[in-house]
Amino acid sequence: MRNRPTLPRMIAGVEERFERQARNESLLRAVNEQIAALGQSAAGWADPAHQFDFTCECGKLEGCGGRVLMTLAEYALVHRQRDRFAVLPGHQTDAIEYVVKQEKRYVVVDKRDAYEHLVE
Ligand SMILES: [Zn+2]
Repeated sequence: MRNRPTLPRMIAGVEERFERQARNESLLRAVNEQIAALGQSAAGWADPAHQFDFTCECGKLEGCGGRVLMTLAEYALVHRQRDRFAVLPGHQTDAIEYVVKQEKRYVVVDKRDAYEHLVE
């Protein structure tokens, strides 16, 4: 929702922050895809139940640095949809995403429509 001059500046600033956060999540996903690819290339010896250290994809601008333990299968399932991300429980940002799956180790979030285009 751009180009709405009636929006108070504060709100616009908040939106910009969320947009940056959404883009950040895409970058983190790219990092995690490397981790998954490395894991897959080692799949010959790896136990399918082995949990890899993925980076929390919450995209918080101040940096989260959290680690999400997931198997490769769990990770692949999350990213079957391009607008879904894996974050640590409690790391979701309600304004830009909603929780579609809650696990002990991680939650899966789905981007709200207004932010979907930023993460594709
Ligand atoms: Zn996080």
